[in-house]
Amino acid sequence: MVALVTGASRGIGKACALKLAEDGYDVAVNYNSNDAKAAETVAAIEALGRKAKAYKANTADLKAVQGMFREIQNDLGQLDVLVNNAGVVDDAYLLMINEDSLSRSLDINIKGYFHCAQQAALKMIKKGGKIVNISSVSSVLAVEGQGVYAATKGAVNSMTATLAKELAPRGITVNAVAPGFIETEMLDNIPEDKLAEYNKSIPAGHFGTAKDVANVVAALCSPAFDYVTGQVIVLDGGLSL
Ligand code: NAP
Repeated sequence: MVALVTGASRGIGKACALKLAEDGYDVAVNYNSNDAKAAETVAAIEALGRKAKAYKANTADLKAVQGMFREIQNDLGQLDVLVNNAGVVDDAYLLMINEDSLSRSLDINIKGYFHCAQQAALKMIKKGGKIVNISSVSSVLAVEGQGVYAATKGAVNSMTATLAKELAPRGITVNAVAPGFIETEMLDNIPEDKLAEYNKSIPAGHFGTAKDVANVVAALCSPAFDYVTGQVIVLDGGLSL
């Protein structure tokens, strides 16, 4: 069994890649820039006894994505699972949003997910498969300064439902996971006092871990969830309740 996890050099993507390897998958480790971190993910997967290879490709670039899928087919074989995870956040209040940041967020968080889902569907169309999109609780909970990010994650939820309906007859499930605050480098840009404030608003009393997300992603990829498709599973310690 073969899985591709985008943005797997660190954070949630790395945790998903390791969990899927534990569950018996060989893993294609996509990343954008950090060669050393991607190599660490590959080594950790190999230490679990599975095959792994790093693929440097900007998911916003269709040609790079097409090339990556061709290489994965040659190197690891038929793809069974895609975890669409590579994403960026660049918080700004409406009047401060700049055009470059807006385009980058739309390109990576939306176009990148479509590029990879399209290529994965082409590979899975005969044998079936699983696609899991990493969304965010920000898609259902308004957080000041996250207008762009929320819009991209709302798009992820919408595409999940539509693609699930289109691909169900082909034996491909498409689901999304919407995490709340998860301890990764993505939180590094948020000031300490804001983080403390967010922490207090979580009924569970603490942030989640990348492993918490990976466990749900891996469950969605397991046969136990074969009949579940088009769903967005919120994973936020009760934050959005
Ligand atoms: P992170 O620690 O910032 O890691 C981001 C990963 O994405 C890195 O591996 C990075 O690669 C890769 N990446 C970024 N742009 C890329 C591109 N254009 N093409 C390919 N790879 C790219 O982020 P994270 O916290 O793990 O977040 C992962 C996903 O979870 C994102 O979709 C995010 O929106 C979502 N999420 C996160 C949280 C949270 O609290 N952390 C909450 C809800 C949802 P390089 O290392 O090479 O740059």
